[in-house]
Amino acid sequence: MDFQVPEDLRLLVDNVRKFRERELAPLERDFLLAGKLPLETRLALERRGRELGFWALDAPEEYGGVGLGHLAMCLISEELSKHPAMFEFGGSPEPSLYLCNDEQKESYFLPVIRGERRSCYAFTEADSGSDLAQIRTMAVRRGDDWIVNGAKIFISHVERADFVILFVSTDRSKGARGISCFLVDMKTPGFRISRMIPTMGDDWEPYEIAFEDCLVPDANRLGEVNAAWAIADHQLTHGRLKIAAHQLGIAQRCLDMAVEWAKQRVAFGKKIAQRQAIQWMIADSEVELQAARMLVYRAAWMMDSGERVRNEAFVAKLYATEMAQRVTDRCLQIFGGLGYSKEVPIQSFYRQVRLWRIGHGTAEIHRWMIARSLLGDAARD
Ligand SMILES: Cc1cc2nc3c(=O)[nH]c(=O)nc-3n(C[C@H](O)[C@H](O)[C@H](O)COP(=O)(O)OP(=O)(O)OC[C@H]3O[C@@H](n4cnc5c(N)ncnc54)[C@H](O)[C@@H]3O)c2cc1C
Repeated sequence: MDFQVPEDLRLLVDNVRKFRERELAPLERDFLLAGKLPLETRLALERRGRELGFWALDAPEEYGGVGLGHLAMCLISEELSKHPAMFEFGGSPEPSLYLCNDEQKESYFLPVIRGERRSCYAFTEADSGSDLAQIRTMAVRRGDDWIVNGAKIFISHVERADFVILFVSTDRSKGARGISCFLVDMKTPGFRISRMIPTMGDDWEPYEIAFEDCLVPDANRLGEVNAAWAIADHQLTHGRLKIAAHQLGIAQRCLDMAVEWAKQRVAFGKKIAQRQAIQWMIADSEVELQAARMLVYRAAWMMDSGERVRNEAFVAKLYATEMAQRVTDRCLQIFGGLGYSKEVPIQSFYRQVRLWRIGHGTAEIHRWMIARSLLGDAARD
């Protein structure tokens, strides 16, 4: 494959870079010290992005979006993630919401594109993370409604969401094939935010949420009963590609900084750039970053061509997240004590990338799925 990023996408990314340099970069020092970008600032940045045309970038044009493809979105994610606050432009519906029926489109999908409503998604439970078949939050049918009881843990973006894309069991005897998906407004009686969970990542605080006799109309069911495994898989595959793209931006930013630092830092009378130990860390990082970039771009390009990329998304996310862990670690090492300090963003990136060997599927589950795609039935227990 003679791969080249098309000229129009390069211009787009250049504009995103300008946004990052003008709007985000001035906030970096405060972000690093506070470990947080206040929600009001994040929303103001979204509005600023919107004024500049960075809104609903991947939503279809027929619904008021810009209609960009997956490769374009990966390039944008890569560029934005060079800032440690992990800012994202608004107006992009979660992949699951593309399955909304006409009524649900009016109430959920379109308001997200217009910036009137926001969602979070909830699979994980205290006893069900990797193994979604163990989901215990139950929805029991009562006439035209469902009664939901249970709790979800580690749910991101609850603080800014208006509704939850909720995955529950509707038939426990069927495990993962007994899962259904509902769109649950957070104002629904019986819905509660139980607690916020502090984490080692800057500004990434997921929540525990609970449902007690929470009445959800059948009209809020997304897709067929007991058929939400495929919705979850679709959502996660898209997410994996985006996460993989984030790792590229993070690793590139850290590597660029490490290269500049190595050229100026003197120890034992020489620039550390002259030391082979440093050169090898830089070389290994460049090789791995280039390899990860090709995996991510290729998977995105395949997705744009309408191909199924479930396995490619596993491969890209697995490699990119582990690559970013190694690159941020090496770059922190090249910076010495300064790298460990909050005066440079490397430590923030280093902590943040750790999440992605766990979130959206752990590295072990990724390896398992990749192996299964090769081994087929021979890999079954
Ligand atoms: C900051 C943060 C944000 C999150 N945001 C969300 C969110 O918005 N929505 C949401 O639904 N979830 C979210 N999650 C949850 C996340 O997706 C889960 O933590 C993840 O899927 C792993 O599940 P677990 O933590 O229960 O680990 P477990 O499944 O308990 O796994 C524990 C360990 O066992 C290993 N393991 C499990 N099964 C196997 C196996 N078969 N073979 C080999 N090893 C195995 C795992 O790889 C891991 O190392 C978030 C998590 C964090 C930390």
